[in-house]
Amino acid sequence: VAPIGDQGKFEDIPILKKIAADSNGPRVKGKVVIVTGTNSPLGIGRASAHQFAQNGAKAVYICDFDDTNLETHKRELAVLYPNVEAHTRRFDASDEEAVRAVVDDAVKKYGRLDIFFANAGIVGQPKIFSEITADEFLHTLKINVVSVHLAAKYAAPAMMITSAEKKHPSGSIVVTASVAGLRSNAGSSDYSASKSGVISLAQTMSYQLAGTGIRVNAICPGVIETGMTAPMYEAARSRGTEKKIGQLNPLRRGAHADEVARVALFLGSDESSYVNGQAWAIDGGLSAGHPFVP
Ligand code: NAD
Repeated sequence: VAPIGDQGKFEDIPILKKIAADSNGPRVKGKVVIVTGTNSPLGIGRASAHQFAQNGAKAVYICDFDDTNLETHKRELAVLYPNVEAHTRRFDASDEEAVRAVVDDAVKKYGRLDIFFANAGIVGQPKIFSEITADEFLHTLKINVVSVHLAAKYAAPAMMITSAEKKHPSGSIVVTASVAGLRSNAGSSDYSASKSGVISLAQTMSYQLAGTGIRVNAICPGVIETGMTAPMYEAARSRGTEKKIGQLNPLRRGAHADEVARVALFLGSDESSYVNGQAWAIDGGLSAGHPFVP
C-alpha cells in the first residue's frame, strides 16, 4: 500500500492490504469456464474465451452449434495460453441434453464449474411484427431465451455442489442480452422481446439463487462489429456510409467484441463479487438518453 499523506506512514487498513496483494493476480485464476457462441471469428464469444484464458482460467469450454472454426479456435487458445485446457463442443445452446452434457463433463473432469457465459444468440426477423409468424417468433425465443434458462438450470446446481464442498465459494452466470432488450428496437420485435426476456430471467434467477453465492448478470451490448452485424457493416461499407453507424453514439463510433469481452470477464470474475442481478449496457452511452441533433 502506498504511503498516505506526507508523513510516509501506512494506515493499517486490511482491505487496502488485500487490494495490494491481489491487484496483479490473474482475474479468473484456476476457474473452469463455459462460453457459448464461440465459433464466429469476430464474435463476442471467441473474444471472451481469450479473455478468460489470458486471465488465468484453468479450463475453457468453447461451444457452438456451428463447429466450422471451433478446432482452430481451440488450437489458437492452446498456442497463446499453454496453461489453459481448451475443450470444444458442437451443440445447440437450446438443447437441454447438450447443455446438461457439457456441464456434466466440466464437473466430471474438474470437480467444479465457476463461470457459465451464456452468449449464443441469433438475430431476429428483419420484418415488422405483424408479418412474423408464431413459429418464427418462438424460434427466436427458443434460441435466445430458453438457452439462457438451460445454461443456468444446469450451471447453478453444478456451482452449488462444489460450493457446498467448499472447493470454491461461488459461481457466476453471465448472459448476453442487448440494448434492444432495454429500449425499443425499431428493427426486430422478436429479438427485442427475447432480449428483454433474457434480462428479466437473469434478474429473477439472481433472486431465486439467493443464499447460494451464485451471481447472475446480463450484459447488453450496443452495436458491435461481429458476425451478427457483418451484413449491416458490409452494406454500409459498400454505400460508403460506414461512419454513420456510430454517428448517433455519444462516443461517435461502434465497437469490437473485445470491449464486450472485457466486461464479461469482469462479471465472471470475483472482481465483481457484489454485482448481481444487473443488466449492464456496453453501448458507448447509446441507451443513456436521446441523441441531441442540433
Ligand atoms: P456472432 O454471430 O458473431 O456470434 C454468435 C455465435 O452464436 C455464432 O458463432 C453462432 O453460430 C452461435 N449460435 C447461434 N445460435 C446458437 C445455438 N442455438 N447454439 C449454439 N451456438 C449458437 O454474433 P455476436 O454479436 O458475437 O453475438 C453474441 C451475442 O451478442 C448474441 O447473443 C447477440 O444477440 C448479442 N448481441 C450482439 C450485438 C452486436 O451488435 N453484435 C448487440 C447486442 C447483443
